[in-house]
Amino acid sequence: MDYYEVLGVPRDATAEEIKRAYRKLARELHPDVNPDPLTQDKFKDVTAAYEVLSDPEKRQMFDLGGDPLGGAGPGSGGTGFGFGDIMDAFFGGGGNQGPRPRVRRGQDALIQVELDLQETAFGTVKDITVDTAIGCPTCHGEGTAAGTDPVTCTMCQGRGQIQSVQRSFLGQVMTARACPQCKGYGTLIPHPCPECAGDGRVRTRRTVSVKIPAGVETGNRIRLAGEGEAGPGAGPAGDLYVEIHERPHEVFSREGDDLFATLRVPMTAAALGTTIPLATLDDQIEIHVRPGTQSGSVETVKAAGVNRLRGHGRGDLHVRIDVVTPSRLDARQTELLKELAELRSEEAPTGFEEQPRGGIFSRLKDSFGGK
Ligand SMILES: [Zn+2]
Ligand SMILES: [Zn+2]
Repeated sequence: MDYYEVLGVPRDATAEEIKRAYRKLARELHPDVNPDPLTQDKFKDVTAAYEVLSDPEKRQMFDLGGDPLGGAGPGSGGTGFGFGDIMDAFFGGGGNQGPRPRVRRGQDALIQVELDLQETAFGTVKDITVDTAIGCPTCHGEGTAAGTDPVTCTMCQGRGQIQSVQRSFLGQVMTARACPQCKGYGTLIPHPCPECAGDGRVRTRRTVSVKIPAGVETGNRIRLAGEGEAGPGAGPAGDLYVEIHERPHEVFSREGDDLFATLRVPMTAAALGTTIPLATLDDQIEIHVRPGTQSGSVETVKAAGVNRLRGHGRGDLHVRIDVVTPSRLDARQTELLKELAELRSEEAPTGFEEQPRGGIFSRLKDSFGGK
């Protein structure tokens, strides 16, 4: 489960935005408003997402591909009550549901992978190390030590719930809450498996090969079905999402499938015209700087950009020419330039120029300058 998606907030959402999103959803989905089971499930997801994202430590763990709630289930030998119990206790959840099954689907996992522009542009295969739960190989997910079985809980007689009558300002209310002895399962494991302490799964580190298609960019996610967390009781695994993060390239900046770069050309070369050898992402090309090239003009190299994701062809490479005015002149150079200025009657500079109409080149220039 992607908690950001559940709350509908961006990955860089502030604490305040997360709180606001949660409040809004909680109002819509609260069991008092919408008692049907589907909405209640959604409400639990939303609350779980808030529990994680509102806690800086858990949020960081999730951002790093971890599963802050997955390890807190019953029997994991850690924090005691599972999250479902807490919610059930709050909302009297599932008043007439039976005991909770020990076998459940696992959570989705998210992992981030850093890629170079080369890799996002042309695709690659990455070996990624993931820490997830898998079904316990010792007990095959049963959670019991060899030769033993679960027994019916004595406190709830296997119902998984304890009913009690409470006085409130509304009068007497019958509430059902998860049985504290069996944590809602209806059974107890008197002799837990020593390997997994009864959870039916263990954490492992594995290497997963991920095929990265050409043309992906930062924020894209690749879904690997069934590669996420195994569920409690060795339940079916959730999915693994691999989120792409592209490292900034030292020369090229990227916008969609197009690349942008800046080429510095001396004033004299810009005036006389020249040819400059240039390394694109995957080729050696030559850029022809026409005589009289102005600073800020753009040369487009067709199909030298990034491969299009789900499509054919490539984006373009836009090379902005940056004409460099010499800043230190010796006596001889000064003399030559003065003579040139005289020949061209350029000793007196001209005044303001009219604003150019916004055309394609000014837009291109903006995209250079704005980055
Ligand atoms: Zn086990
Ligand atoms: Zn019980």
